[in-house]
Amino acid sequence: MFCSDMTLAATVNSILYEGGEPVYIDTEYDTWNMDPKALEKAFELYPDVKIVVLVHLYGTPSKVAEIRKICDAHGALLVEDAAESLGATYQGKQTGTFGDVAAISFNGNKIITGSTGGMLLTSKAHEADQVRKWSTQAREAAGWYQHEEVGYNYRMSNIIAGLVRGQWEHIDEHIARKKEIYERYRKGFAGVPVKMNPYDAANSEPNFWMSCIAVDPEAMAAQSRDDHQSCYRSEEGKSCPEEILEVLKTFHMEGRPVWKLMHLQPIYRSNAFITETGSGRGSSYAYNADMKCADAGADIFNRGLCLPSDIGMTEEEQGKVIEVVKRCFG
Ligand SMILES: *Cc1c(COP(=O)(O)O)cnc(C)c1O
Repeated sequence: MFCSDMTLAATVNSILYEGGEPVYIDTEYDTWNMDPKALEKAFELYPDVKIVVLVHLYGTPSKVAEIRKICDAHGALLVEDAAESLGATYQGKQTGTFGDVAAISFNGNKIITGSTGGMLLTSKAHEADQVRKWSTQAREAAGWYQHEEVGYNYRMSNIIAGLVRGQWEHIDEHIARKKEIYERYRKGFAGVPVKMNPYDAANSEPNFWMSCIAVDPEAMAAQSRDDHQSCYRSEEGKSCPEEILEVLKTFHMEGRPVWKLMHLQPIYRSNAFITETGSGRGSSYAYNADMKCADAGADIFNRGLCLPSDIGMTEEEQGKVIEVVKRCFG
C-alpha cells in the first residue's frame, strides 16, 4: 500500500495489522502532504498496488482531488486518514469525503474530541454495517452470539459518543479560534526567517489544527539528530528547531518537532520510499536552485516544528511564544 510518509505511526500501523506492506510516498513542499508526482512515480514502479492511504497533515488538506484522479487511473482505492482534518475543505468539499473510506479521530488533542474514539466514513451502507459488526466482536445477526469471522473490540462507547456530539456544536468556533492562532503567528513572525506550515490557499481551507513553522534554509543553525539524541550549534542570527524547542521549554511552553517521517523510523525504515525521481533511499539533502531537496520530507522534518496551538491559549501567552522564537534568531 502506498501511504503518506510524514504522519503519526498510527497510519502505518493499521497497514501492518492487515498484513500490508507500506511504501512511503514523499512529502511535497506546498502542503507538507503526499506529493502527487511522487505517487505517480510509485505507480510506475509498483503498478499492482491497489490502496493509497492519504493523510491531511495538521488539518491541512492534501491535493486530494489530484490524488483521487491518480488512484482512479490505476484502479486503486483511496483511504483518507482525516484524523487531524475534520472540518477542513478542499475545493469546497470536506476532507474525508474524497476517499472510498476515511477515518476521523476524536483523540484528546484533535479539533473536537471525546477524549478518545473515532469515526469511519463511507457512503456505502453495507460497508458501514460490516465495520460496525467487526468493531463489536463480529457478532452475526442471530438470536444468540453467532460468530463466523474474527471480530475486534473497536467500538466507541455511548458516553464518548455523547461527548463528541456535545463538542460537534462547537467545531466552527474551534476552527475559527485555530485560524486566529495561525494568523497571529503568521503576522507575529513578519521579518523572522521562518514560514508557517503552508496550504493551497486557492483550493483549500484547513481547520488550522496545528500551527507549525519551518526555519528558512539560510537561517538554519547546524543541527544533528540520531535516533534518540540531538545537538545543535548556537549561531548568531540563526536558529534551528532543537534550539527553539529547548528555549520554549525553559519558559514552560510546549513545542514538538514535526512528525518524524516513517521512512526514518527504525521499525519501518527498511520499506521502500519513493520520491518524484524514484527511490528516495539515500537521496541527497542538498538544495537545488529552488531551495528544494530530493528528500523533501527529511528537509521539512529537519527545519520544522509545531508551536503551542491550543484554543485555550491567551493572546498574551501566544505573544510570549512569538517573542521567544524571535529572540532565538538574535
Ligand atoms: C491522531 C491520529 C491518528 C490516530 O487516531 P486515534 O484516534 O488516536 O487512533 C491517526 N492518524 C493521524 C494522522 C493522527 O493524527
